[in-house]
Amino acid sequence: MKLKIAIQKSGRLHEDSIKLLKECGIDINNGVNRLKTEASNFPLEVLYLRDDDIPQYVEDGVADIGIVGENVMLEKRKNALSLLPLGFGKCRLSIAVPKNSDYKDISSLEGKKIATSYPLILGDFLAKNKLNSEIHEISGSVEIAPNVGLADAICDLVSSGSTLFINNLEEKEVVLKSEAILISSDQLIPGKQQILDQLLFRIQAVKQSRKHKYILLNAPDENVERIIRLLPGMKSPTVLPLAVKGWSSIHSVVHEDDFWNIIQSLKAEGAQGILVTGIEKMIL
Ligand code: ATP
Ligand code: ZN
Repeated sequence: MKLKIAIQKSGRLHEDSIKLLKECGIDINNGVNRLKTEASNFPLEVLYLRDDDIPQYVEDGVADIGIVGENVMLEKRKNALSLLPLGFGKCRLSIAVPKNSDYKDISSLEGKKIATSYPLILGDFLAKNKLNSEIHEISGSVEIAPNVGLADAICDLVSSGSTLFINNLEEKEVVLKSEAILISSDQLIPGKQQILDQLLFRIQAVKQSRKHKYILLNAPDENVERIIRLLPGMKSPTVLPLAVKGWSSIHSVVHEDDFWNIIQSLKAEGAQGILVTGIEKMIL
């Protein structure tokens, strides 16, 4: 038995999806020009699809699971479960208006025409804010709509904002923050559920490891206790005596977000020879 996963055939999520599977120790022949491939060392079949179609394929059971932007999942409203965020494909669905427009606050959108490929998410957002705006659905190149006189504003995906900038638009309201998520059918047979559980275990280990760094340093014995308080570690830091008397080596795991703050404090406590390396897998 094989679990079937749908991933984007080409586009912004393709490479990171493949990379995640690789880091989970799953070898797939990257067949860009093929519809599907099989993993050689894990019971997984990979289907390459347009991202917009993935929720439907999962609802229909053609694919068992899929990797798709949360924005797509929320817009398509298909019968599938959102399992977990994957930490890539981060973007915002935002409302933007031409730079020279007299936008003051969200109420400026009242009665205006907004072009988008996300009519349902936008509709909910407008209803929540008690606004009557006209939604104009277009499937691509939404960012040119105001310039060609098709709409007063747009609601589209933004990451760096460079597309908005090029088109003389300004981001005004964030409707949704999104990233790639793993979705699954809500009726997997037990054998497939078992494979999914193994995959989830591996994904969690990869996700954990991406958020953490392994740190090694040397410190004078009299400062070890204060340094340990700075380094939580998974249980507690490892402390080993160095060959030089009066010195110890301390090993620990730190969260990426805390990393730079901790480094400064460690140096202040006399830590030397600080080494920091990535972690490949991390099982909590
Ligand atoms: P497909 O051919 O599969 O339909 P697409 O053109 O609809 O591809 P992409 O532009 O490759 O889709 O984007 C796929 C997903 O990547 C988006 O749905 C979104 O979740 C995410 N993403 C991240 N940053 C951005 C961005 N700046 N613009 C658009 N999508 C982004
Ligand atoms: Zn698409």
